[in-house]
Amino acid sequence: MKRIRLREGKERSLLKRHPWVFAGSIAKGAADSGETVRIEAHDGRFLAWGAYSPTSSIRVRAWSFEEDERIDAAFFARRIERAVALRARLPIGSDGMRLVHGEADGLPGLVVDRYADTLSAQFLFAGSERWKAIIADALLAATALTRLYERSDAGVRALEGLPECSGWLRGDGATDIALREHGWSLRVDVAQGHKTGTYLDQRDNRQHFAAAVRHFGCAEVLNCYSYTGGFTLAALAGGAARVVSVDSSAPALALAQQHVQQNGFDATRHEAVDADVNQHLRACLERGELFDAIVLDPPKFAPTAAQAERAARAYKDINRLALKLMRPGGLLFTFSCSGGIGPELFHKIIAGAGHDAGVDALILQRLAAACDHPTTLEFPEGDYLSGLALLVR
Ligand code: SAH
Repeated sequence: MKRIRLREGKERSLLKRHPWVFAGSIAKGAADSGETVRIEAHDGRFLAWGAYSPTSSIRVRAWSFEEDERIDAAFFARRIERAVALRARLPIGSDGMRLVHGEADGLPGLVVDRYADTLSAQFLFAGSERWKAIIADALLAATALTRLYERSDAGVRALEGLPECSGWLRGDGATDIALREHGWSLRVDVAQGHKTGTYLDQRDNRQHFAAAVRHFGCAEVLNCYSYTGGFTLAALAGGAARVVSVDSSAPALALAQQHVQQNGFDATRHEAVDADVNQHLRACLERGELFDAIVLDPPKFAPTAAQAERAARAYKDINRLALKLMRPGGLLFTFSCSGGIGPELFHKIIAGAGHDAGVDALILQRLAAACDHPTTLEFPEGDYLSGLALLVR
């Protein structure tokens, strides 16, 4: 067993069960990509078992803080069974759910989503990559399913020195899957969709939006960065008379249109606009087009804290424009999924946007990822999705 010896004082975060060891904290020791290592304090005390990643600045991620725990197939089976059992207790209300949420489920660098009878997984770390076959078998055993698609075509794999790859890991067949969410029917393609197929983290917020549209009687709704129209369905279900979906992906918009129709909504209530959101907001402003409710759910502008400043300007810009397009009494659901921008900074950015737009707004609700994307006390970095539901006075 290879040992990783930390520099003096660098054991503190592991003692608090934070699972990451940065390269600069290591005094000596190295291992192969994904190999299990014993992480030790400067005096040789046991801290954790982890997996080594030779190229990543997060050089080791901990699997376990228990000295007598062996990192083997049974370990992965236990962790996966625990993650699956937790989801069975959570109020999810859909057959699309996140089954494994990386560090929060004690499985760093592993993301697994369930779409009805199909699993879709991302292996984003040298450690989860190394145990891929064992993990795949444990996932099927814990869920009694037979199909597992791999979507390890994420850019972060490069930091781990791993190539991007995707395809069936277990089972085969059609990648286009039918899903139920809040009683709506959706289609998800695990091979073509974003991330593992779609954005399950916004599931609860789509329901909150439907309820708010209904409660406040919002007639005209603008859904920016609509993807396949999750918030569009929410607006229609909430009784909106007209919904505009804006996205720069034509296939996503085509699926949004299909979702409107297959859920029995009158297609004339929906308009799909293939455009850059920033430009579209400016065009609406020029035309004097106003809305009763707007959703802003942009892609990650700041994947890490280093890009936070530039991203902050981009978030402020779209939020300022959206607030200017709001009818009095209007509703804004605004989000950031940037790991580099925490809820406090996001609040400040939106406050700045409100000030610049000359709008007086109240926070109705603070929004986060759905409960099957848990954040643990030890690992606040897992809390990447921040949102605010604002009501304009
Ligand atoms: N709200 C969606 C998820 C949004 S994901 C849901 O609930 O499912 C972000 C979306 O933004 C993607 O669909 C992507 O195609 C789109 N996008 C990225 N940059 C864009 C831009 N500049 N203008 C318009 N859409 C953009």
